[in-house]
Amino acid sequence: MYNAISISLGELVLKGKNRGQFEQKLDLQIKRVLKEKELKLYRDRGKIFIDTMEDTEGIIKEISNIFGIVMISPCIKTTLEREEIRNAVIETISYNRKEKQINTFKIMTSRANKKYPVDSMEMNRWLGGEVLNHFPDIRVDVHQPDMIVYVDIRSFCYVASQKIKGVGGLPMGTNGKGLVLLSGGIDSPVAAYMMARRGVRVSFLTFHAYPFTSEWAKDKVRQLVDLLTTYCIESTLYSINLLNIYQEIKKKCPEDESTIIARRFMMKIAEEIALEKQYDFLITGESLGQVASQTSKALGVIDAAVSIPILRPVIGMDKTEIIEIARRIGTYETSILPYEDCCSVFSPLHPVTQPKKDKILESETVLNDMTLIEEALQTLEKETFKL
Ligand code: ATP
Ligand code: MG
Repeated sequence: MYNAISISLGELVLKGKNRGQFEQKLDLQIKRVLKEKELKLYRDRGKIFIDTMEDTEGIIKEISNIFGIVMISPCIKTTLEREEIRNAVIETISYNRKEKQINTFKIMTSRANKKYPVDSMEMNRWLGGEVLNHFPDIRVDVHQPDMIVYVDIRSFCYVASQKIKGVGGLPMGTNGKGLVLLSGGIDSPVAAYMMARRGVRVSFLTFHAYPFTSEWAKDKVRQLVDLLTTYCIESTLYSINLLNIYQEIKKKCPEDESTIIARRFMMKIAEEIALEKQYDFLITGESLGQVASQTSKALGVIDAAVSIPILRPVIGMDKTEIIEIARRIGTYETSILPYEDCCSVFSPLHPVTQPKKDKILESETVLNDMTLIEEALQTLEKETFKL
């Protein structure tokens, strides 16, 4: 029955001059997601439309994860001829009546095309009357109707009865590039999702300690990136072997400081990669007070290791809230699979919770920073993921 899909863009509307660029990015992402499908995509007064021949539901499912889209409706597209609009409204109601009992309805016309000679109220009245003539057993209820028929008048008219929520946010790539430090845990995939949803094009960096940690640990992170690619469309995973650095720290530094020192190394290496590959910031899944390395003091000492900004989108969230998002975006089940994280393998029994920067810097002097970082960078591996 449907021959078009209407897509609403939410916050994009607010973006003034940037709007054109934002819309182009979104168009491109929709085309990417729909891959080789030869579909007509066009814009009309702030909305995006796709003309479809078949499988409207399948197409909606594919585009529903694209950031920047707030609402999607399958529609019947008609010309502006009143009779055609009327027929589309009747067809929409008939179709819905096959699925569920409908005793009451309401017509909601919006007229983005101000040249259309009939105003919204008058359209509602006329179409309502036509529906009542056609289906004598149903009535109008403007407060709590069993169904609403949306009539959207633009260069064409789009008649719909469903509004399907999109993921919202801003189109990918409209807010810079970020490098996510991705462990195999629950928090960092959520952090990646949250920043990607705000328009950041994200790539991933993971640290492993192979052969001390297994191939499986790497595989798990790859699975997570694969899942996140549902939203990111295309992404890159960098991995670095941190084993040598861990062993050096364990050998030469106070045990209770090893986690914080290792974290600082992670940031320094991430910063090197970010500068080289032009990422604007680092992103982590740190949440205040969650573990010893995430107290306010510890975060301060970690921050001091680099000058690139570190974004921590889950900083103020409870674990249960983070888990809720992880479930919703589909990463939770993979995140909770057992694995040996390189941090947990080397983590001390009693880590410092209130580290002092000067003391940490002092402990680090026995390590040859530059060489260790350079050697670690030699182990860099890169893999790309596509939807
Ligand atoms: P997550 O925070 O993802 O649930 P976790 O709780 O095991 O995993 P933490 O020890 O809390 O990780 O680490 C805090 C943050 O540091 C992570 O969210 C992640 O951004 C980064 N991080 C930790 N371990 C790694 C790693 N092996 N590779 C890359 N980043 C890591
Ligand atoms: Mg964590």
